[in-house]
Amino acid sequence: MDKDISTKQKKIRTLLDEKKGILLAHYYQRPEIQDIADFRGDSLSLSIRATETDARVIVFAGVRFMAESASILSPDKTVLLPRLDAGCPLADMITGGELKELKRLHPGVPVVTYVNSSAATKADSDVCCTSANSVKVVNSFTGAETVIMVPDGNLARYTARFTDKRVIPGRGYCYVHHNLSPDDIRAVKEQHPKAVLAVHPECTLDVIDMADFVGSTSGILQFARTTEASEIIVGTEHGIMHLLKKENPGKTFIPASPSMVCRDMKLITLDDILDALTEMKHVISVPDEIRKPAYRALRKMLDLSS
Ligand code: SF4
Repeated sequence: MDKDISTKQKKIRTLLDEKKGILLAHYYQRPEIQDIADFRGDSLSLSIRATETDARVIVFAGVRFMAESASILSPDKTVLLPRLDAGCPLADMITGGELKELKRLHPGVPVVTYVNSSAATKADSDVCCTSANSVKVVNSFTGAETVIMVPDGNLARYTARFTDKRVIPGRGYCYVHHNLSPDDIRAVKEQHPKAVLAVHPECTLDVIDMADFVGSTSGILQFARTTEASEIIVGTEHGIMHLLKKENPGKTFIPASPSMVCRDMKLITLDDILDALTEMKHVISVPDEIRKPAYRALRKMLDLSS
């Protein structure tokens, strides 16, 4: 390994020990960050991990909404986001005004909000969901015939296939998944005719319809461990390849498209984490008037999932 990288990694681990901190890294982060994290995972599993530790400082190698969720669930801890500009275009695709308008147009209809959303959007929602539990969450509204699901329209349309309820989708999308096209899939399948295809539900339905497996990042990792196929085309952000290859050395993983890279997820570097720990920046906290209702929406989802 590059000596410079391993020196920085050691410095980060020393600073974490000194400050009683932990490093959480999303599966889409750079490999050298994932390798020294206390926990790797999807956004919600990382925030739940944060509640279970007695660490005082949480360094979140991810994007802003993830650090916000950690702070909402663990307000007594100091949550640091190494790059303030690491955002999520999908989370930004619903504004407070738009959600208000949706509620005005559909009075009394419950709002289910994907965790890839701002704290303020969560606070205005009835419940949150993940890509793994969206169907269960939607179906939990036994008395409702319709639900609103924001911000990801693709996840909403996919979820709608597994419920009798009418799902009103938000207009948002994750460009990393949304831009994967059936032509991309056909091209990669032509190169790897024996490979199976695993995609994330943030993809469009025409891509989903070509897949052998559809699931969250954790679901795709699980699928890779258990499938008998030895070649897997991966339709989610490129960062997940690191763990897929590490966990399954006998299998081959092929990106569904070379452009499935999230710019924001790749912003954070080891240097940024070092700076964050040295200067204790950038602290992410959520004001109580938003934190409390956002906590209720997250808590309701966690209770449904337990
Ligand atoms: S991969 Fe998509 S949903 Fe995740 S942070 Fe990037 S833009 Fe947002």
